[in-house]
Amino acid sequence: MRIAFLGLGHMGLPMAKNLATSGHEVVGFDVFPAAVDAAREAGVAVAHSGTDAATAASVVITMFQTGDQVLGAYRGVDGADGLLAVAASDALFVDCSTIAVDEARAAHALAEAAGHRSLDAPVSGGVVGAENATLAFMVGGTDEDFEAARPLFEAMGRRVVHCGGAGLGQAAKVCNNMILAVSQIAVAEAFVLGERLGLSHQALFDVASNASGQCWALTTNCPVPGPVPTSPANRDYQPGFAGALMNKDLGLAEKAIAATGVEAKMGRLAREIYQEFADGEGAGQDFSGIINTIRGDRV
Ligand code: NAD
Repeated sequence: MRIAFLGLGHMGLPMAKNLATSGHEVVGFDVFPAAVDAAREAGVAVAHSGTDAATAASVVITMFQTGDQVLGAYRGVDGADGLLAVAASDALFVDCSTIAVDEARAAHALAEAAGHRSLDAPVSGGVVGAENATLAFMVGGTDEDFEAARPLFEAMGRRVVHCGGAGLGQAAKVCNNMILAVSQIAVAEAFVLGERLGLSHQALFDVASNASGQCWALTTNCPVPGPVPTSPANRDYQPGFAGALMNKDLGLAEKAIAATGVEAKMGRLAREIYQEFADGEGAGQDFSGIINTIRGDRV
């Protein structure tokens, strides 16, 4: 079974490497020449083009930034053959990029119309998870296709959840990250309020982490230095999960909120808050750095 792996960026390269070291035949490609060089140096076989990598491949994995990139690569640009045209018949297309639910469904439809099978399989766990093969995969597609791809997910990650049909992996990702954004803002607001009331960070942490305020944004990603020594706040908010990526994911949530007509006041407000954060100096900081904006230290 030959696997084409397209998109060898921060996430894609370590994922492709883990697939190759677990014994799969992997051929990679990226439109960015330095990424191809890095893959070659990391011991991943590389092709001269995306279609070269995908020709006769029975599995095609993509790990791009945007839905437009995924749909463009599937279809082909400027009349050239795309990945769908050159892969082996009945190939399994697995898109691991984080893209909108409607874009993921469009990708499924294109793959199906071309006689292929497909899964949307976004991940969480970041670059560290990609490097250590501890990613979590959220997967949308049929039971059969999910089971066929399971060994591949297990070579790149630790947790794999089949969320339902086409697009529902992306739906799970967008819903989870909306919870995360809202809860990170809530935790940061509580710490700033506690400061103004004379409450120490440690005292608030000791209470909330053992009470109903307990959540990942507090106990793992604590936005103040001290209580959780491994949180980004202890290293001047170096990510972690960058504000730009959180803002991107909230943009996808906003699109889904608009498409479904859900009220989601908190989700929409979180998008506004992180948009402003990412437009300023927050793009490259961990998203827990939002506490500095709330405190008024940085605007
Ligand atoms: P990245 O920009 O580092 O990598 C994407 C790569 O895709 C780039 O190298 C780009 O040149 C390549 N690419 C684009 N179009 C291509 C094409 N047609 N053919 C071949 N290569 C092409 O991005 P990343 O950080 O690796 O993230 C990838 C995806 O994973 C994004 O959707 C992101 O939202 C998601 N994600 C990222 C993280 C993270 O911590 N970085 C965590 C979870 C999810």
